[in-house]
This record gives sequence, structure tokens and C-alpha cells, in this order.
Amino acid sequence: MPKDMLQELFQRSKKIVVKIGSNTLTGEDGLVSKSYLNDIASQVTELTQKGQRILIVSSGARVSGLSAINKWARRADIHYKQALCAIGQVALMDSWRQAFARHSVHVGQILLTKDDFSDAYRTLNIRNTLFTLMDEGVIPIVNENDTICVEEIKIGDNDNLAALTAILWGADLLLCLSDIEGVFDKNPKQHPDAKLIETVRDFEALKATIETAGTSSFGTGGIESKIEAAQKVVAYGIPMVLANGKTPSVLKTLSEGGARATLFLPSTGSTLT
Ligand code: ADP
Repeated sequence: MPKDMLQELFQRSKKIVVKIGSNTLTGEDGLVSKSYLNDIASQVTELTQKGQRILIVSSGARVSGLSAINKWARRADIHYKQALCAIGQVALMDSWRQAFARHSVHVGQILLTKDDFSDAYRTLNIRNTLFTLMDEGVIPIVNENDTICVEEIKIGDNDNLAALTAILWGADLLLCLSDIEGVFDKNPKQHPDAKLIETVRDFEALKATIETAGTSSFGTGGIESKIEAAQKVVAYGIPMVLANGKTPSVLKTLSEGGARATLFLPSTGSTLT
């Protein structure tokens, strides 16, 4: 991808949704990595001091629940999964709270469900809360309200949640941080020769040409949900960048065009002119 394209996109985006996947938040021990959260909090604080507004969509409730309670890993029934998320959400938010407290920045938790996006009264309330938090320098941290969501009423993955949130907030950019550098022609975890696709405008052509088998161990959506999320936001003129969240100083590096990524752009007319 042209380096300056990414750089320009980041620099002119005032409102950025940053979605962080479970595997990106966890360290090699499989636990939520406090040092990673600290690093993201430092970078986000720096960007907000420069006038950008950042909203975080954070996965990781289930993995936090597992490490907090250290059991139920194999319980397949929905109530145990939801109970784990209920326990883990507290632990996850506590980790985020601590990470931002080092910079004297507050965080606010927003738990959303699919219905929240289809009810005009609720969307208005969410928007107002988001704007108030932003105006007061608080970082909103969004997750799906897993405790009350069963399969039928679920968004199901945080890529699509992040996309809906970006649309609702009127973001300028959705940055999706995963454990891969972007979309490849085939799963890079299984095929070392997989090639990165740097720019996507034509989603149908993309879907027809790539292989999408497999997610990472805690991932729920896989690459398909990232493509779906990108398709949602570009329909509203919001570009999406998919990048590797483990890139050192990822936000800064990307904003300087210093890392490989996939950039999804609206098909008609460039948003970068
Ligand atoms: P996250 O936890 O960050 O949301 P997921 O595990 O849900 O991530 O999705 C990313 C995974 O999708 C990658 O780790 C990779 O194994 C898999 N994948 C499958 N096909 C592709 C592809 N064509 N390009 C990139 N990743 C792919």
C-alpha cells in the first residue's frame, strides 16, 4: 500500500474506532497482557492530546473470565459462557482502567447488543453518551453485552460491533487490530507463501479470490467478519484498516505509514483525494 495513503488517512482522521481482538490482547501465556494494554493506553493518550478522538472496541471478556476463575474452559453450555463473560468483563475493564489511570485518563464502559443499533431512541442515547464522554476526555470502551445475548440476538463478533459503532458515532476511520497484517490471498497461519492484499475496493472480487479457512484460538469472527465489517463501514464512506496489533507502537507506526496493512476503501470516488 502506498505509504503516504495510510499516513494521510491517519492524519486527517479526527475520530478513530480502534478494535482490538482477543489474540492481540493476550500474551504468550494466554492471559490478557497488561503491558500491551499499557502500551495502547499510552499511544491513545498521546493521540488524544494531539486532538484525535479514539474509541476502543475491546474483546477479551471470555479470556479474562477464564484467567480470573481458572475453570469452565470446556463448559460448552451458553450460561457458563455468559457467566465467564460476566466475570471477565469486570477484570478486562479493570485492566483498561488501570492502564489509562497511569495517564490520569478515565475510561467508560459501553456494553451494546444488536437491538441497540436498530432502535432510534437507543442510538440517540448512545450517541449522546459517546459525545459526552469524548467531550470530557474519557475513553469509551465498547464490547458486546454477552451476558444478555443469546445466538439469535447477537452481533456475534466485535468486528461487526466495531463497524456498527463506527457508523453510529460517525467515525472517520475504523482500525481493526488483529494477529495478522491484513487480508491475504490465503490463511497466512497455514500458508507461509500467502500474499498480503494491500488495498480493497471491490469486495465481491476479493471474496471470490481469497481462501478464508480458520480463525485463531480465541477469535470468533475470523477474516470473514473483518471483511464484512469493512463492507459495512465503507458503505458509509468510512475506510477501514486491518493491521497487526502486535506491531511495535502500532498506532504511531501506522500513522507514519511504517507498517504493512490492508486498506479498505469505498469503491466509488476515493476518500483520499
Ligand atoms: P481476532 O481475534 O483478531 O478478531 P480472528 O482469529 O477472528 O482474529 O481472525 C483472524 C484470523 O483469520 C487469522 O489469525 C488467520 O488465521 C485467519 N485467516 C483465515 N484466512 C485468512 C486470510 N485469507 N487472510 C488473513 N487471515 C486469515
